[in-house]
Amino acid sequence: MNYEAFFQGQLDTLKEDGRYRSFAELERRAGHFPRARHYGEGGVDEVTVWCSNDYLGMGQHPKVLAAMHDTLDACGAGAGGTRNISGTTHAHVLLEAELADLHGKEAALLFTSGYVSNWAALSTLAARLPNCVVLSDELNHASMIEGIRHSRAECIRFRHNDPADLDRRLAAIPADRPKLVAFESVYSMDGDIAPIAEILDVCEKHGAMSYLDEVHGVGLYGARGGGVAEREGLMDRVTLIEGTLGKAFGVMGGYIAGSAALCDFIRSFASGFIFTTALPPALAAGATASIRHLKASGIEREQHQARVAQVRRRLDAIGIPSIDNPSHIIPVMVGDAHKCKMISDWLLEHHGIYVQPINYPTVPVGTERLRLTPSPVHSDGDVDKLVTALSEIWSQCALARRAMAA
Ligand SMILES: *Cc1c(COP(=O)(O)O)cnc(C)c1O
Repeated sequence: MNYEAFFQGQLDTLKEDGRYRSFAELERRAGHFPRARHYGEGGVDEVTVWCSNDYLGMGQHPKVLAAMHDTLDACGAGAGGTRNISGTTHAHVLLEAELADLHGKEAALLFTSGYVSNWAALSTLAARLPNCVVLSDELNHASMIEGIRHSRAECIRFRHNDPADLDRRLAAIPADRPKLVAFESVYSMDGDIAPIAEILDVCEKHGAMSYLDEVHGVGLYGARGGGVAEREGLMDRVTLIEGTLGKAFGVMGGYIAGSAALCDFIRSFASGFIFTTALPPALAAGATASIRHLKASGIEREQHQARVAQVRRRLDAIGIPSIDNPSHIIPVMVGDAHKCKMISDWLLEHHGIYVQPINYPTVPVGTERLRLTPSPVHSDGDVDKLVTALSEIWSQCALARRAMAA
């Protein structure tokens, strides 16, 4: 076989379909985010980032940077081993205690990313609970799908955010069979929020374990940033809460929080936890500082919601179509892969505005979009520029506008 020709052929197909991924090469400027240097074909220029998951700008927060500098200087670069073999540092233990407290759980367990935490926790639970059946929301993140698939347990997909469908499907499963219900709080591409209370009612009715991905909720919702389940007073009813340290907390890493026995079980059996080098202590210390800050301070969350509401209002006022949702994610709908990429390129080249196009398979074909994530570090001027530029390109490309309220 001509391997090179095969690789090239597959890439050519992606390009023809408009779903070849090109990365924007950035250099984020600490203290100046959302400003970043962009290394483009024509040289280096400054751009404003409108699609970051560093939702609150915590990646440049002085307390986070100070904790990371201090720990780097005190402890060195890496953890030096897996958690079992010399890699459990004091910084890791403090972070796990901080996370358990954040979610009101007995324990928490750290992973190298949110992806790994979902993959490792779900695959271990579903494989080891005898004859387990997993009920998975049909729009769950790839990391959950891959974890469930790897477990080889039976998996039943239920209709997105539909407790009645979940109820019907659970009712058809023998009562004595272990059941694991996996879902998210905020869905990252549409920005919709799960009816968590109703889903938990159904889980409890059928004796199912609940597994909630709060990756896009932690830091952002709830009085202490514990997520949507905290805001709704539901954390104690969720069996396992999963989150990331890489989005609102601005650093890197993933975790689960739950009972002491549950976390100890995953710690003891999950390959994706056991056989990998622990996070650098400086990352752990930075994440701890970020979580602590956001537990005590609500101002970032308030400013975040205000900025999101402002952008939404401005886009609505000129009929730029976005998905209406109750979260901080604003999906501006384009509906065509090539146009989506073209608009993104144009915004970058002509206005120094960086919004990555979101195409299939991240979202269904025909729902290609620009996913805007306003943050407290964007200014009124940034919003003006964004809205003006979008209006201009919408006219130039004769893209449909939404009928404006009469
Ligand atoms: C980003 C994401 C993850 C993975 O988290 P990382 O820390 O980035 O690996 C998991 N679940 C959802 C819903 C996500 O959007």
